[in-house]
Amino acid sequence: MTPTIVLRVKSTPLPGPCGCCGRVRGVRVGTALLCDWCGWRYGDVPDDDLARPVIEVVYYIRYDRRVKIGTSRRPRQRLSSIRHEELLAFERGGRDVEQARHREFAAIREGGEWFTLTTELRAHIASLQRVSDPWQLHARWTAEALRG
Ligand SMILES: [Zn+2]
Repeated sequence: MTPTIVLRVKSTPLPGPCGCCGRVRGVRVGTALLCDWCGWRYGDVPDDDLARPVIEVVYYIRYDRRVKIGTSRRPRQRLSSIRHEELLAFERGGRDVEQARHREFAAIREGGEWFTLTTELRAHIASLQRVSDPWQLHARWTAEALRG
């Protein structure tokens, strides 16, 4: 397993909820106050004229010793409809990335989009776990897309 790198920065309460993700803790970086979850600059207001950005992801969810590799533009809705025990990781990308992963792990495919959780698949998933919670990565991608 690749160790997850956690940057420990002293967090401070935001004066109000983050304009991007709604969380309430921030970090000071120079003169800026950033949301400590998604990285959005406190006080910046997402442009209402712009639609909420759609972040396409490939998700890796585990049930017992099997992993489903699928893709979604609305992972929160999608994952709530699939029985699983743990969300392991998100990878940025859509159908093309998903199909590439399905080919890459074809030898351990059990059926449908389910794969055996082997050492090799575990290593690939570990390489995607840049922060401990995949939803934080998703929030950062959303904040980045909103910034344009
Ligand atoms: Zn935020």
